[in-house]
Amino acid sequence: MTATPIGVEISCDGPDEQTDCPESAAVRASFNSVTARQVRADGRDQGWTVRRRAGRLRDLCPTCRRPASA
Ligand SMILES: [Zn+2]
Repeated sequence: MTATPIGVEISCDGPDEQTDCPESAAVRASFNSVTARQVRADGRDQGWTVRRRAGRLRDLCPTCRRPASA
């Protein structure tokens, strides 16, 4: 086994496939959160969502969660 990673950074995947997140947001992980699962749980507390898109999981920050009306 390799050493346990110190932390996981989960960043926003943006409102859609071609658009980067306008906020360049990332989940602020709590001290106790080490795994991606734990950090995603922190993100949910902060309003993040995980959405399945094209067979992959995409993390969306609170800003990107709602499609911006152009
Ligand atoms: Zn975003």
